Formats: sequence, structure tokens, C-alpha cells
Amino acid sequence: MRSWKTCIGLLLLHSFVSLADDIEKAPPSFPYRQSKAVPVDFKSVELRLDVRTSKSEGYAIIEFDSHEAGFPFFDLVPSMLRARLNGREIAGKGATLVDAPDRVTKFMVLDEVVAADASHVLEIWFDAKYLDLNKGLCRVNFMMSDLASSGREFWEQYAPANFEFDQFKQTLWLTIHDTTTPHEVFTNGSVASAGTNAWKIDFPEYFTTSSFYLHITDKDRFQVRRANFQGMQNLVPIISYSETSSLADSGLSRTLQVMKELENTYGPYPHESFVAYVTNYRGGMEHVGSTITSLSALAHEITHSWFARGVMPSSGNSGWIDEAIASWRDNSYPQAKSAPSRSPVNLGGFSPYRRHTTSAAYTDGMKLISEMDFMFRDIARGSQRGMRAILADFFLENQKKTITVAAFQSYLENFTGRDLTAIFRRYVYGSSSMRFSDMAKSLVPEHLESADFKTQHPRPFTHEERLLLH
Ligand SMILES: [Zn+2]
Repeated sequence: MRSWKTCIGLLLLHSFVSLADDIEKAPPSFPYRQSKAVPVDFKSVELRLDVRTSKSEGYAIIEFDSHEAGFPFFDLVPSMLRARLNGREIAGKGATLVDAPDRVTKFMVLDEVVAADASHVLEIWFDAKYLDLNKGLCRVNFMMSDLASSGREFWEQYAPANFEFDQFKQTLWLTIHDTTTPHEVFTNGSVASAGTNAWKIDFPEYFTTSSFYLHITDKDRFQVRRANFQGMQNLVPIISYSETSSLADSGLSRTLQVMKELENTYGPYPHESFVAYVTNYRGGMEHVGSTITSLSALAHEITHSWFARGVMPSSGNSGWIDEAIASWRDNSYPQAKSAPSRSPVNLGGFSPYRRHTTSAAYTDGMKLISEMDFMFRDIARGSQRGMRAILADFFLENQKKTITVAAFQSYLENFTGRDLTAIFRRYVYGSSSMRFSDMAKSLVPEHLESADFKTQHPRPFTHEERLLLH
């Protein structure tokens, strides 16, 4: 038995290690107001959302650690009303909207300096009018996109959040006031009733800003199908819901089939449950153990529960990895006939502040995976060969963690014993003249639909679809 001192020592060592891991992947600090704007590490968020006929409001208590002295940066798109840091009111609204140094995105910087290596409690009150009742109904899907060219389309659209590198535990207390209409929630957190039209939802510690799924709607609006998937390790509750019985039915049977296929290829499903909102629209998005999707893109989106929301990108620079892998699967794992020998391409050498994934992930990214599948075709693990064998091990080692491009490269090098510096320099980071140059380019939707292009990745939802899907 260990002494309590050893236990506390181990605990401190563990929290120091995980804390250091997280912040090392953060975008760097930069000069700001005669000091610096600095990244911080969220430890936990306690969030309260109060839905009302008007003036719906949010309140968050964020426990975070600072590593450098300066003004902390984070993000929140809805208007901040006021903020308190360590029990003291911050003047004005508490934070300022600021451009990233290279202008690839904007985010909030707190109007208060913190010391280095310290723990803090930040309270934020914010306007949540996006939740306001309409004729006694709250129909809000907390939709996201990883393809919006200026970012700011993850959880920060709805509540305070950090950049994607940061994993933090979140508890949400959601209450719908001012209506007698019964509501229900679909989510990838664990839900407990907290009264009539009130819920407590716990999201796990490994979630990042791109992980959360939440859909609030009036009860019995959707056709809901439930089943348990007997996975290799766990019994996984599955929900498929849709406006039509046939889509809900097909969503459920397709999910059960694809989960089995992916477990056989990459190993046990890592999340608590799976929730699919199956629609007739062509857009889609993956969340952890959940998706909004058409039936045709469902398998692609379930793949993202292994890669994207199982092994998770730490920024827009590593977003190409999971799209390349999922698109490679969509095409039944084609193997190239040679190692890469083509024009350079930038998949992951953009600004460290970048939050969105390049559209080249679906074409050149997938191509690179199929070329590495050729290069490593003699590597075997269990019944798998080549990149499938490598990715199964990569998933085993890195599930529920965020990864950088450098970490992916060194993982591949360690596993294969090959130096991939030249390949990554040319086919992942592009030529130096391309770096930081296509930041202003947004995703071109037709890129996803060209004749020779077979990824099942759905294009982002249009504005009109977003309104209809709530
Ligand atoms: Zn995708």
C-alpha cells in the first residue's frame, strides 16, 4: 500500500503532467496592451443556461490555470454582460474581441491580467438570446462546423470555451422557464432530470470545444429508435432520431452495422453512447459519439468517433488527419501504386491560431494516407496490414487525447522506423511560400462534390438548413 504522501505526490505529478501536455499544444502568447495575451488551461466549466421568453441568460464558472503572466485569451461569441475574476468584478463587460496576430480568426481576451503559474476562477454572465422561447417552444440545436474559414463555430458559439487543444470537464444546468410545454434533450453528455423542463448534463473530461452535442426540442417531436450495440468491450446505447420513421429505422440499423465494421478495423468504440440525428439534408457534422447527418454520410460520420472525436485534433492544423482517414475508408481503403511524388501541398502548416480544416484534407490528405499504405504495406498487426494496422495502434495509443501534426509524424516514424521528415515537409507542410498564405481561402463546397472525389464527408450545413434543423 502506498503512503498518503506518495499518493498526493503521484496526484500532483499526474495533474502537472496532464496540465503541461494540454498547454503545450495551445496557440502562443502575443504582445498585447504593453503586456501579453496568453493561452490558459481550462480545468472545469460549470455552466447554467436559463431559457426564457426573452432575455435568456448564461452563467459560467470556469476554473483555469495560467502558465504565463498576461491577459488570458479564450472565446465566447454571444455578448458578455459582465465578468468576475477570483471574486472581483472586472470593469466594463470583462473582455474584448481581438484579432489573432495573423488575423486568421478573432477571439476574446480578458480585460484583466493574471500571474504566471496560478489557478483562477472566472465567472461570466452572457446573453443567450439564441435560446429565447418562440410561442412557448425552444428548438435549438447547438450545431457546429470545422470548415468555417474564420473559425468560431464550435461550442464558443453558445457558451465560453477554449481553443481546441484544451480538454475540460463541463457540467451544464439547463432550465426552460415560462412554458408548460414538455421538452426533451438529445446530447452526448450524461443526462439527469433536475425537475420539470430542467436537466443536469455532465460531459466527460476529455471533451474539447468541438466535442459537445446538444439538441433541445419539444418532447415527442421526433421519431426515436433505441438499441444497444454489443461492442468488443462495452454495451453501447444507440439512439437514432429523425422526423421520419424510415430514416430513424435506417439510421439505427446502419449505425449498428458500421460500429461493428469499425471496431473490427480500429478497435473498441471509445465513447459512452452514440446519438445520430438523421436528416434529409445533405449537410452534416460530427461530434463525440454523435452526429447530425444524412443517411448517406452516416458511416463517414461514425468513423469520426474513432478519428476526429476519438483521437482529436488539437487545432485546425491537425484537422486534416481525420478527414484523410475517414475519406480513405469511404473509398474502401485504396492503396497507391507508389510512394508520393507530386506537387507540394499544405495540409497542416498554417497559423497556430487557425481553427478550421483545409479542404485539401479530403483529396491530397486521403492520397497521402493511401501512399503511406503502399509504403508500409508489409507492416501487419493482427488481421490488418499497412496503414489500417498502424492506425489501429495509433487509435489505441491516442484515443481521447488531442494530437498535433508533429505528434502524428513522430508516431508514424516510431512505429515504422522510417524518417518521414521529407514527406511531411512536402506533402503536409507544403512549400514555405504556401504556408500561412491560404488562410483567407474558405472551403469551396464543390470541392466535396467533384466527379472523381468520393469522400462521403458532407458539406457544411447552409444557413437555411441550420434554421430548419433546429
Ligand atoms: Zn468528415
